[in-house]
Amino acid sequence: MAADFDVIVLGGGANGTGVARDCAMRGLRVLLLEKADFGVGASGNSSGMIHGGIRYMLSDRKVTALACRDSGFIQRIAPHLLFRIPFLMPFASRKAGATLAERAAWYATEVYVGTYDLYQPLKRGKPSTRLGPEELYALEPGLRPGLAGAVTLDEWGIDAFRLCVLNALDAAAHGADVRTWTEGREILRDLGRVRGVRFRDVLTGEEGEARAPVVFNAAGAWSPALARRNGARVPMRPGKGVHLTLDRRFSNYGVICSAVDGRQMFLMPHERESIVGTTDDDYYGDPDDLEATNDEVEYLLEGAASLVPGVRDARITRAWCGLRTTLYAYGPNEDALSREHQIQDGAAEGLAGLLSFVGGKLASYRAQAEEATDRILELLGRPRGQCRTHLEPLPGGDEVPDPAVLAREWPVAAPLAARLVYRHGSRAREILRLVKDEPRLGLVLCRDEGILAAEVVHCARHEKVRRLQDLRRRCRVGLGGCGGVDCARIAAQLAGRELGWGADRIRAELADLLDQGWRERRAILDGAQLAQEELVRGSTGLLEVPW
Ligand SMILES: Cc1cc2nc3c(=O)[nH]c(=O)nc-3n(C[C@H](O)[C@H](O)[C@H](O)COP(=O)(O)OP(=O)(O)OC[C@H]3O[C@@H](n4cnc5c(N)ncnc54)[C@H](O)[C@@H]3O)c2cc1C
Repeated sequence: MAADFDVIVLGGGANGTGVARDCAMRGLRVLLLEKADFGVGASGNSSGMIHGGIRYMLSDRKVTALACRDSGFIQRIAPHLLFRIPFLMPFASRKAGATLAERAAWYATEVYVGTYDLYQPLKRGKPSTRLGPEELYALEPGLRPGLAGAVTLDEWGIDAFRLCVLNALDAAAHGADVRTWTEGREILRDLGRVRGVRFRDVLTGEEGEARAPVVFNAAGAWSPALARRNGARVPMRPGKGVHLTLDRRFSNYGVICSAVDGRQMFLMPHERESIVGTTDDDYYGDPDDLEATNDEVEYLLEGAASLVPGVRDARITRAWCGLRTTLYAYGPNEDALSREHQIQDGAAEGLAGLLSFVGGKLASYRAQAEEATDRILELLGRPRGQCRTHLEPLPGGDEVPDPAVLAREWPVAAPLAARLVYRHGSRAREILRLVKDEPRLGLVLCRDEGILAAEVVHCARHEKVRRLQDLRRRCRVGLGGCGGVDCARIAAQLAGRELGWGADRIRAELADLLDQGWRERRAILDGAQLAQEELVRGSTGLLEVPW
């Protein structure tokens, strides 16, 4: 099979889907290939902060400014998908009374955060506030005793999986050919110029070629190897970052803590759970073999427990990780590396027409995609046209319905309606219409995640789902504290009904979904989680799932 495009984008993370959307909106014929599913790389495994990166304000002020400005635009195009997450930076001393040096450091922190306030209006952030100890403990009674107060920091979070999906769906709505589970295997060339890509559908084994004068390599941490296989170089210093999900909320706000080595980390409430993040370590292995270790789990837990001791009572339900695609530099510690981005041109290495994206931030993905699209149009010798990705809403972002009103109009409880609105914006109504047409689809599949059967059906029909595990990323099937005991089997049957799977395929998909969960639990099997694991295995063992 061969086809003609203006540009082929490799990688369905935030950058690849963002570029595909912008290119398609500016009238280019686009092919987007993702070797697994949207967001499976750094994007979906990031902390999901659409923030300004206060840490980079001194070293990379441009990064902070760009991310804050783009955060404002992302709020405009996907208002349903963002949530405000105020952080507290507590003033902690390891001794009984604070030393002069510590007091000076706290004052410096206050001034520093105060300077960040100058950027806050760009992203509708609230200015920082200094809290005394009483105010701090009133807000966060779970903090360890003896803290001297805190300064606040207002940020935004997002469901990064859905951000990638929505960009891809919108690219497709503007004419792009978008394919998941399809790997770009070889960059085809002719006389020093790119002429296309040979690809393979990972699920069917079908191979094909697509022709295009420009290939945009947005393969994240896989980029260096992809380029190397094709005779080019993409310098990068990949950094592994691990997060933990805890089974419940341990704080009302995000809390910034210090790890044992003094590196900054955080604990934050997320949906019904808490997230602890993150490590930052050089990684030289295969990106496909990435897994958290017991060591990393303990490192994160120790840091979080230093301020919120209660986390030691948590059941850790997942340890998940991603690779930062940081620009190469020899010397600095991982957390001191620049978060700037580059678009590298393959022309110097005999691959004119190949552009590779390195570095950057999720929070600036849209601006990065705009810059990349300008470069692609330049290479094609076309006028830039007007970028509209900051003006036109992503699917479902045209309106944020009031969940209370939805709950009055449709047969659904308000908390479930709220979750639907968060994930689907105005498209929540389409899902609720399914329930009205077929009341059985009002079944709540998962007590943890509040997933409706209708949501699974909607995603399978309209959101480019090809595997059951794609539903983890579309609507959190199997991600709750029960590890899929509640929802996995029914979701598999519903997806099978929609996608025409037979019984063997349903069982294989179920086994694959559970295996994904297992990979995220291996490093945390202890105590209560070990008992939970027995439950998960017992419940699926009865179904004779070959796991
Ligand atoms: C732990 C961690 C925390 C972070 N936290 C934040 C944060 O809070 N805020 C923030 O702004 N940024 C954050 N970042 C950075 C941010 O996640 C990245 O800058 C961004 O997600 C990179 O997106 P990407 O599309 O370039 O790469 P990725 O998301 O990694 O996407 C690359 C994609 O390419 C696909 N692929 C690979 N090879 C091929 C091939 N041959 N053919 C087809 N597809 C292929 C992969 O499957 C993958 O889906 C964090 C990163 C990490 C790792």
